[in-house]
Amino acid sequence: MTLQADHQVTVIGAGIVGICCALELSRAGYTVRVLDRAGPAEGASLGNAGVISPWSCVPQSLPGQWKHIPRWTLNPDGPVALRWRYLPHLLPWIARFLASASWSRIDRIADALFALNDDAPDLYRALVRGTGGENLIRESSYIHVFRDPRQADPASLQWRMRLARGVPLTFVTGNEVREIEPTLSGEYQAAVLIQSQARCINPGRLGKVLAQTAQKQGVVFETTEVKELIRGSDDLWQIRTADRAIRSSQLVLAGGAWSARLLAPLGIHVPLESERGYHTVFTNPGVTLNNSILDGDRKFAVSSMEVGLRCAGTAEFAGLDALPDYQRAKVIGRLAKRMLPELNTSEVSEWMGSRPATPDSLPCIGSAPGQKGLFVAFGHGHLGLTQAPMTALMMTAMISGTPCPIEPKPYRLNRF
Ligand SMILES: Cc1cc2nc3c(=O)[nH]c(=O)nc-3n(C[C@H](O)[C@H](O)[C@H](O)COP(=O)(O)OP(=O)(O)OC[C@H]3O[C@@H](n4cnc5c(N)ncnc54)[C@H](O)[C@@H]3O)c2cc1C
Repeated sequence: MTLQADHQVTVIGAGIVGICCALELSRAGYTVRVLDRAGPAEGASLGNAGVISPWSCVPQSLPGQWKHIPRWTLNPDGPVALRWRYLPHLLPWIARFLASASWSRIDRIADALFALNDDAPDLYRALVRGTGGENLIRESSYIHVFRDPRQADPASLQWRMRLARGVPLTFVTGNEVREIEPTLSGEYQAAVLIQSQARCINPGRLGKVLAQTAQKQGVVFETTEVKELIRGSDDLWQIRTADRAIRSSQLVLAGGAWSARLLAPLGIHVPLESERGYHTVFTNPGVTLNNSILDGDRKFAVSSMEVGLRCAGTAEFAGLDALPDYQRAKVIGRLAKRMLPELNTSEVSEWMGSRPATPDSLPCIGSAPGQKGLFVAFGHGHLGLTQAPMTALMMTAMISGTPCPIEPKPYRLNRF
């Protein structure tokens, strides 16, 4: 059977978001092609912390948080790093980031995050069923550990926001933390256990397994760099690559942190930043964790994975094209040794990836106004692994004109 032109969709970007979109669209009967300059799950989706977090509903920007930013930025071991030469480019984004911390907005943002994350563990279990990758998704708690017990106070804003939404939390103090994770340092005096979560023990392999599943369903993956998107007079899109032009009636732009570059020539300007994160993997760690652990002071996450013990974090703002600064990964490695004193640090690998960050912590999911056939699915920031399956269901509903599984308004592209 030859499918109509409007049953063809080209997805730009083979990160976890693009892969999940391709998979769902092909299940819905579309002929799907995915274009990426690298292979599947080679961008931010390769090296993340693997936390699948249905309960992560607290926005990145919160009231009063600006007071911590100078301290975080000036401390070389702190969780935020800035290349000062990049600051003039970043200022408009920072202004929007701070504005999104108003009391009137944070609850709406939290509800929208919650809706997008809520079903993530079950959606992943369904996606990997029958693929051979079932063991990649593990049941887990997400344990936030603190040196200062006051930070695990249920009355503080981040816990209040979760409790208000029914998140299953347990607050523990003193040595109870080590009863759950015995290898944790005695420095930690309190913890908050966020239960009923999941963790992925190899996010890169998860992306590749799902891409293979999509391929078996007929999705074609091509390695090529997209240079420009041009709307043809025949209502078809022309996707200009290094060596040819590909025509497609419908496009899904899922290019992660690079997405805004393809939209700008169309007159669509999105405040999307590359929030660079790093990981250090200890490939022969000698310790095992049963859950994902977040150091609540230093803001890095640690998890036992197929490849070793992965410690991931840092928010570095240096632009999309700056070379990695692996000092950031080394800082995380040092902090991890303090977190887990028995950790064997002899064998390490390091990585940097760009989180696609919007100033209001919400992704852009939906049609591009005034650009028929162009849809976007990018900007998932710290939670793209978690949010990819629901994004894909939304995208498929929008393209096929069926009811969206959740209210799409908070994620629309023209909200900025
Ligand atoms: C250190 C770190 C830890 C994290 N931990 C977690 C976590 O625990 N849980 C969680 O839910 N999320 C986490 N995240 C966030 C998550 O990894 C990202 O939000 C997610 O991977 C984004 O997926 P994506 O598909 O949008 O982007 P990407 O994975 O970056 O994919 C985008 C793809 O688009 C391609 N592309 C872009 N432009 C073009 C072009 N012009 N032509 C061809 N190809 C193009 C790129 O090559 C790339 O492969 C973490 C991120 C980092 C950096």
